[in-house]
Amino acid sequence: MPMQDAGERAGNFSEVSLGYTLELAREEAARCLQCKTPTCQQGCPVEVDCKSFIRMVAEDDLEGAFKTIKETNSLPAICGRVCPQENQCEGSCKLRKTGKPIAIGRLERFVADNYYAQNSCEAIAGDEACRLIDEDLRVAVIGSGPSSLTAAGYLSTRGIKVSVFEALHEPGGVLVYGIPEFRLPKSVVHTEIETLKAQGVEFVCNHVGGPTSGISELMDKGYKAVFIGAGAGLPKFLGLSGENLIGVYSANEYLTRVNLMRGYRFPEFDTPVPRGKKVVVLGGGNVAMDAARTALRLGAEEVKVVYRRTQGEMPARREELEHALEEGVKLEILSSPLEFTGDEQGNLCSLRLQRMELGPEDASGRCKPIPVSGDEFEIDADMAVIAVGTGPNPVLINSSPELKLNERGYIQVDPHTGETSMPMVFAGGDIVTGAATVVLAMGAGRRAAREIARRLKKDAD
Ligand code: FAD
Ligand code: SF4
Repeated sequence: MPMQDAGERAGNFSEVSLGYTLELAREEAARCLQCKTPTCQQGCPVEVDCKSFIRMVAEDDLEGAFKTIKETNSLPAICGRVCPQENQCEGSCKLRKTGKPIAIGRLERFVADNYYAQNSCEAIAGDEACRLIDEDLRVAVIGSGPSSLTAAGYLSTRGIKVSVFEALHEPGGVLVYGIPEFRLPKSVVHTEIETLKAQGVEFVCNHVGGPTSGISELMDKGYKAVFIGAGAGLPKFLGLSGENLIGVYSANEYLTRVNLMRGYRFPEFDTPVPRGKKVVVLGGGNVAMDAARTALRLGAEEVKVVYRRTQGEMPARREELEHALEEGVKLEILSSPLEFTGDEQGNLCSLRLQRMELGPEDASGRCKPIPVSGDEFEIDADMAVIAVGTGPNPVLINSSPELKLNERGYIQVDPHTGETSMPMVFAGGDIVTGAATVVLAMGAGRRAAREIARRLKKDAD
């Protein structure tokens, strides 16, 4: 797929991948074998009928392709950009053994982008016309990330009135506050949300489920069911000396300031954004890559990602890691932080690191990193971003003691329906599984919404 040049893109926030042209999309789709027993669909967590939509792309039937994808995937322009297709549909494509699986994600993005460009949100929503059975048949959704957007979309197209309550001032969850503009433009998420609005979904922002209104309160107000998609947005810290020095940030705070609060457009938007010259990012996942690439774009002279295992074990998507390296991000592998050190004014100056080596496999099936005795070293840094994972946000959970939690502190649900320990209260996405992926959150939202619709329709009869 055409892409911005690495040197150029490291200095701007425009999207890295530019998308297929019609010719490239046709060419790619024409490579599909149209297998008798396709394996690609099984690899997709929401079971998109890849074979059919790819055939339609090859036949120039954009509308048919879009509708085929939308049957099971409510956010195709988003999934086409951020899903780890290499482990999903493309990982299961029969052409994978040739080393050239069909680029299903890129084709999905092509279809969604072009269909949205040719049709208004109202026209698209009109196709999925909202049939209101009864104004009283109302469902509340808490949080507005991909699990919630999927649940809201599913329910609204089945004639159920949905209100989405979001704590932040803009809906979209991690899609807007976490994943940067250069990977997922805000306008793409905006289009999906506008389509939901046109479908009749109501969005109420600046509304914190729990303190502003609890679950029981929502039920008392007449909502027949509640879906909780509150995510896992509580940053984890390292508990190391110097972690509170000026210049040390959680990835959540850093990315939220830059993305949602448009810090990268300072002073046009008045969110001050930290701009380090020597930046160290701790972690090895997508969040770490996003933070590192953001720091480069904000003018850092050097960005190092510190990770305690090796490059091959980094959990970040291969494509994101490769893009980061091409742009100039450096890796400091087999290293683990020991301490942040600062100057007399409390500003971060450096990090003391421990050299690691790989030991035998641990319970996760990966080699356990073990400290190399006596091998410590220091690297200079005026900014550090901690991206070592997140936990469940306690605000809603604490205000609803009736919600049963699992041993990790996430909401416990029936795996078939998504129902929690509170009747007619459902949950899905990261607040149930812990930090996972967009498409898994969507799958959970859809599963719960299907059950809610089934029960409400039964009640309504
Ligand atoms: P979230 O997207 O977390 O949204 C939850 C929403 O609920 C938030 O808007 C929050 O403000 C709101 N909320 C929380 N508490 C309350 C409350 N009490 N009341 C009201 N609202 C509340 N996945 C991929 O598949 N591919 C990627 O490339 C990828 N990159 C990522 C990069 C970053 C920086 C991050 C942080 C995550 C990334 N992920 C990626 C993971 C993916 O984004 C998440 O798994 C997914 O967004 C989870 O969706 P969700 O619906 O559970 O909740
Ligand atoms: Fe096409 Fe690959 Fe699916 Fe076969 S498995 S239908 S080649 S995308």
